[in-house]
Amino acid sequence: MADVIKEFKEIPYKIYLEENEMPTEWYNVRADMINKPAPLLNPGTGQPMTAEELGGVFCEELVKQELDNDTQRIPIPQEILDFYKMYRPSPLVRAYCLEEKLDTPAHIYYKFEGNNTSGSHKLNSAIAQAYYAKNQGLKGVTTETGAGQWGTALSMACSYLGLDCDVYMVKVSYEQKPFRREVMRTYGANVTPSPSMTTEIGKKILADHPGTTGSLGCAISEAVESAVSREGYRYVLGSVLNQVLLHQSIIGLETKTALDKYGIEADMIIGCAGGGSNLGGLISPFAGEKLRGEKDYQIIAVEPKSCPSLTRGKYAYDFCDTGMVCPLAKMYTLGSGFIPSPNHAGGLRYHGMSSVVSQLYDDGIIEARAVEQTEVFKAATEFARVEGILPAPESSHAIKVAIDEAMKCKETGEEKNIVFGLTGTGYFDMYAYQAFNDGKMTDYIPTDEELEASFATLPQIG
Ligand SMILES: *Cc1c(COP(=O)(O)O)cnc(C)c1O
Repeated sequence: MADVIKEFKEIPYKIYLEENEMPTEWYNVRADMINKPAPLLNPGTGQPMTAEELGGVFCEELVKQELDNDTQRIPIPQEILDFYKMYRPSPLVRAYCLEEKLDTPAHIYYKFEGNNTSGSHKLNSAIAQAYYAKNQGLKGVTTETGAGQWGTALSMACSYLGLDCDVYMVKVSYEQKPFRREVMRTYGANVTPSPSMTTEIGKKILADHPGTTGSLGCAISEAVESAVSREGYRYVLGSVLNQVLLHQSIIGLETKTALDKYGIEADMIIGCAGGGSNLGGLISPFAGEKLRGEKDYQIIAVEPKSCPSLTRGKYAYDFCDTGMVCPLAKMYTLGSGFIPSPNHAGGLRYHGMSSVVSQLYDDGIIEARAVEQTEVFKAATEFARVEGILPAPESSHAIKVAIDEAMKCKETGEEKNIVFGLTGTGYFDMYAYQAFNDGKMTDYIPTDEELEASFATLPQIG
């Protein structure tokens, strides 16, 4: 106990950064990667997408960032720094209470990104993407949202900058998460349930699958069509892309500065992985040190067993969306036709994984683990009861593995420093918590046959 009290003095419960300690540049891990992530391909020609082709869909400056594999540090424009000041730095919390509850010698830290109205890390990239759209003189942006965090973040950023924001929200979420929808509308966004009759692809999907409750891949196709078919609009995406990981590097940079400030060396860095943006952002500066041969860390991506793109997927070129209108990306993927079981409530449902994260995984810089959702909610509950934050189901995947690792330390007596990303809060996920509390939540793990059927939909590329 005396030790603990001493530590309490040395390392505060929450480590904040002073304004002059805040990062002013994003870190581009691609610059330090020996094997660069594979380029996006034009689905028509099979050739790498050019800046010009991408410029029809995405904002100019964001295309530059997407294609830039060489610039290590990219200055954050002042307007974005000013916006970050409203909710950043996010705290790096020493989980003293969780450590005590687990009775582990491990030191656990988490970087909490849920301290803004959107409730997640997604605002870090939303404001950057909206800023570049505004700077280019565009009228507005279109996007899709599944659970709603990205749509909420983007609508906040757009209202701040005075841009139109058209969100295609997966129909099942639109109906099940009316409060998310209303937050977006409060920030001035137009929210359309997807599939809809407002796009050609939406009409086609509705004709082929009447009564469908939609999917993320299908909402992406609608949002892209809606952007490219109108003057002054571009499409923006909340995860997966290189540019999004770049913006999210703010998470890792702050984490590293905070750890350095107290002389703490992380042994292990853990993050949940859906499309890979928070994980990529959190680990980037650490992976960079590892790639440059300066330090070694154990880096773990955690995904759901029901949507296991890293642990059971194939590393191949695939479509990013169901409508097959987007460029092809080389990634660990379950196939764009993969639809996670409806009893999976824990988020992280995207069929593929960011090209950067995929390449780092393929090169052995990071490892991956898949966990079952009932275990995830058990960990979420344990965490909520001692640390006072009701975590998002997505974030709870990282909690689960952090707890597992802390329990291993208890057996071995090792005092490892475990750092994990707590990406957001779970107030809009109470149906999932309800299912768990009622004992009605089940686990679903796709069979090999199901995955094979889905792999069969992969495009045949060289
Ligand atoms: C969107 C989201 C994720 C997953 O997305 P990534 O791009 O993999 O980071 C994780 N946690 C929360 C709270 C989210 O909103």
